Amino acid sequence: MTPVLFHSTNRQSPPVNLREALLEGQAPDLGLYFPQAFPRLTPDEIAAFQKLAYPEIATRVLTPYLDGILSEEVLSGLCRDAYTFDVPIEKAYDRVYLMRLDRGPTASFKDFAAQMMARLIGRFIQEDGRQLTILTATSGDTGSAVAHAFHNLPGIRVVVLFPEAEISLRQRKLMTVLTGNVTSVAIDGKFDDCQAMVKRAFADPDLDHIPLSSANSINIGRLLPQSVYYFYAASRLAQPGESIVFSIPSGNFGDMMGAVVAREMGLPVKKIIASVNDNDEFPRFLATGVYQKVVPSRNSISNAMNVGHPSNLARLVALYGGHMDEAGRIHAPPDLRAMRRDLFSSSVSDERTRLAFLEFWEKYQLLLEPHGAVAWQGFKDWLETESLAGRPAVLIETADPAKFPELIEQAFGWSPDAPPAMSAMDTMPERYDRMGTDYEAFKRFLLAHHA
Ligand SMILES: *Cc1c(COP(=O)(O)O)cnc(C)c1O
Repeated sequence: MTPVLFHSTNRQSPPVNLREALLEGQAPDLGLYFPQAFPRLTPDEIAAFQKLAYPEIATRVLTPYLDGILSEEVLSGLCRDAYTFDVPIEKAYDRVYLMRLDRGPTASFKDFAAQMMARLIGRFIQEDGRQLTILTATSGDTGSAVAHAFHNLPGIRVVVLFPEAEISLRQRKLMTVLTGNVTSVAIDGKFDDCQAMVKRAFADPDLDHIPLSSANSINIGRLLPQSVYYFYAASRLAQPGESIVFSIPSGNFGDMMGAVVAREMGLPVKKIIASVNDNDEFPRFLATGVYQKVVPSRNSISNAMNVGHPSNLARLVALYGGHMDEAGRIHAPPDLRAMRRDLFSSSVSDERTRLAFLEFWEKYQLLLEPHGAVAWQGFKDWLETESLAGRPAVLIETADPAKFPELIEQAFGWSPDAPPAMSAMDTMPERYDRMGTDYEAFKRFLLAHHA
């Protein structure tokens, strides 16, 4: 097998293997790494997943990317170690299902990528005897998933930036109770400000002596593990060769790109539905071909998706033959007709999110939280345009409802129990720094912390 190489969406940096792409995060030309060509799994290989457990499917999906870097045996051990939690699939009606990706240590789907990435990066760092600072911006759930996954890994320091006013107390605590190699910084600004500061730090020559990597969805190490659960869902719900529909609540489009990766690797997928909140830059782009960021990003109750310019769009545009730079400017248009054939996208207001949440409970007795409710409404919007034709469909629920209890409290007057690991943190002391959106101050902070 030839090793999979990753090139930058800006095409100005040399291609690298997965090990280098993981450790670097962003490419030197500020583009995002993406496979030059996807490894394909045969229909027989995919059909065999029906009988395999989640960690084994993860091993088979990820092996081709690590050829020549890690043996399949080592990878298999890492997958078994990373994926010790359930992946429940619950039936709503007919062949429409809800897949809950919320049983990891920080109760959001971000654990799927963070757990794997930390194990891979931790291993590479140890092999090289190196040090690495993981710098990450979070709209809430990335930071905690990453901080937990890398906590106490030798050679690694984690710095997490979060928008102070935009995340819940529980989300904050999941980061700020961690000590040791984890530093949390509250930014008096929006998620987009945090992301811009992180991106600038990566491009800053004054920080060249600090080995930095990102655990944001700009890191390809986030996307690849997120393709596994789409294979898993299909292995449980679709007949061999039968195509499936996914509705994915989307912010930075990392989760949704996982489904795109799965399809590129050979999984039969009829439609990928990118369900977004009021930040509607992508559905407008798909409809009109004109891309306009939402600046500033709009607040909504599905707050992990308050993203006005999803960084992963650069990868999507590249896959469809276009070029979007890191600022969101389109230099070459993608094949919009092909995009519309494969993808659907719908914007769901808070009002529609609330109604969808209630409807799902009343009709199917299944509890959602705001992000999952956006996926349900986006799916229904798609059904207005096309028929499911008897195929299976999967709505992705990205967090434990206890993590976003407001909707439930408003509707029913009670709040769901938090998973034990989370409620244990309620009484632990927090520790974090505060900062404005001034890049120079942040840079001084990074330099001081490195010493
Ligand atoms: C991060 C997150 C999302 C959005 O995922 P993207 O990969 O950024 O599109 C959706 N729901 C929850 C709960 C999240 O934490």
